[in-house]
Amino acid sequence: MSTYRASPLMGQMMDQPLLISSIIEFADRHYGHSEIVSRRVEGDLHRYTYRDCHRRARQLANALAALGVEMGQRVGTLAWNGYRHLEAYYAISGSGAVLHTINPRLFADQVAYIVDHAQDQYLLFDLSFLPLVTAIASRCPSVKGWIALCDAERMPDSALPNLLCYETLLAQQTDDFSWPRFDENSAASLCYTSGTTGHPKGALYSHRSTLLHAYGSAMPNALNVSSHDTVAPVVPMFHVNAWGLPYSAPLAGAKLVLPGSALDGASLYDLFEAEGVTFSAGVPTVWLGLINHVMQHGLRFSTFRRTVIGGAACPPAMMATLIDELQVEAIHVWGMTEMSPIGTTGGLQVRHLAQDLPAQRAVLQKQGHAVFGVDLKIVDDAGVELPWDGVSCGNLLVKGPWVISRYFGDEDSALVDGGWFPTGDVASIDADGYMQITDRSKDVIKSGGEWIGTIELENIAMAHPAVLQAACIGLPHPKWDERPLLLVVLRQGVDLTLEQMLQFYEGKIAKWWTPDAVVFVDSLPLGGTGKLLKNKLREQYRDYHFAGASQGR
Ligand code: ADP
Repeated sequence: MSTYRASPLMGQMMDQPLLISSIIEFADRHYGHSEIVSRRVEGDLHRYTYRDCHRRARQLANALAALGVEMGQRVGTLAWNGYRHLEAYYAISGSGAVLHTINPRLFADQVAYIVDHAQDQYLLFDLSFLPLVTAIASRCPSVKGWIALCDAERMPDSALPNLLCYETLLAQQTDDFSWPRFDENSAASLCYTSGTTGHPKGALYSHRSTLLHAYGSAMPNALNVSSHDTVAPVVPMFHVNAWGLPYSAPLAGAKLVLPGSALDGASLYDLFEAEGVTFSAGVPTVWLGLINHVMQHGLRFSTFRRTVIGGAACPPAMMATLIDELQVEAIHVWGMTEMSPIGTTGGLQVRHLAQDLPAQRAVLQKQGHAVFGVDLKIVDDAGVELPWDGVSCGNLLVKGPWVISRYFGDEDSALVDGGWFPTGDVASIDADGYMQITDRSKDVIKSGGEWIGTIELENIAMAHPAVLQAACIGLPHPKWDERPLLLVVLRQGVDLTLEQMLQFYEGKIAKWWTPDAVVFVDSLPLGGTGKLLKNKLREQYRDYHFAGASQGR
């Protein structure tokens, strides 16, 4: 499979493929007593160990074989973060089939499209997704059986054809199963992008890419996961494999806490406290809920010390609350489905420790430096590489063994410029290699031939104490091509005028960056992975006329 030439003298080391099954085998052997605690959709907490997980994954591998699932075939999951989902991660990939994690928050049509495109043979689902599964079943001819992730007593009374019970399938099998050895470049799992523009596209990870990503992301300067940690991946296991934590946590022997579907602030806080969570990962909208709950009730964390925040920019105000008020180290991570997903992680280097607080916060606000294994560069629209000066902004390109080369089912390469993947993000990189995202290229506002980054405008708005959430979009303007419109959700019970909001920008940015208008709204549209749907907002405000007017209250 390698496209590189061989040396006349090759190394003489063992030819051991990097396989996902080796992670759970290792965790069983060396951290067999480390716990996995799951909040189930049934509402209760389930508790067992890596050793138990490995045993049941082997039973599931036998069950899949009995169902006739073959190497390379796709098996879908529609499930929250939980132990049965984790068993599926290891059993499906470990036996050579392809784990296809599906985002249940997508529209039913998109889910049906994805299942059909992937040609899933079986689909495992949490009971909460029975209505979704029932709605799409007739449009998914490839699916031979729908496996409900529950025991026989909880099997739903449903007309769904070929409905199977997960626990019954497992009970029919022994745990006598040896993980097969095969080429490490074999497909292991499949994850579709959220398809904010056009159809979702599949990123097909290999065993090798998954293992390398697990090693790379667990490193101290990256996620820094160890056996001393209790890790709670709040980011769903259907959102780019929960950023690799279902692999890196067992690899490091960390205790895992899987929160199921209860992602509201109160439920997360109770779980974190009860299970002694030390480290977590999630998108900013999830932290918003948790922080609000903690602050409103005057609570504090007793063990939670570190979190990574990614998927969207973490507003400085949120980072300040986490660090200063709650003593939780907040670390930016940046990546994408096409990158398994981790590309960069934030945090301070030793030399930053001598700097003053505002300078340190400016560093933390950046999306960070590349994880070993990922290479970055920024280019202008003509493809010319731009300097790493922290000022020049350009299209961000990446390279690395856990970055896709093409989309699943596509003949064409997804790469440009001699093997780089275009991320669709606009960024600067400073002399230390710290990358900062200014915007997604489709969101950046082009005003009078210059670019305005919407992330900074949103971050400033959200630093105002009256503002809960903010989104900035570019709308057509007769003179400047595009101008920024700011949409603001206020905190409950507070008032703010248009003038006060705009005054808040004074001295913080170039004057011409200031939004032309502000609209106060009750909520903002969020997509399947908790991100702002700016294309929806642009559509909604398509006929908005700036004309100096606003709809302020
Ligand atoms: P999708 O593209 O399906 O929404 P991804 O989760 O793959 O899902 O999204 C990747 C994109 O999310 C990146 O290209 C970037 O625009 C954005 N993103 C991810 N992490 C960050 C971050 N820390 N700061 C700013 N943007 C981020």
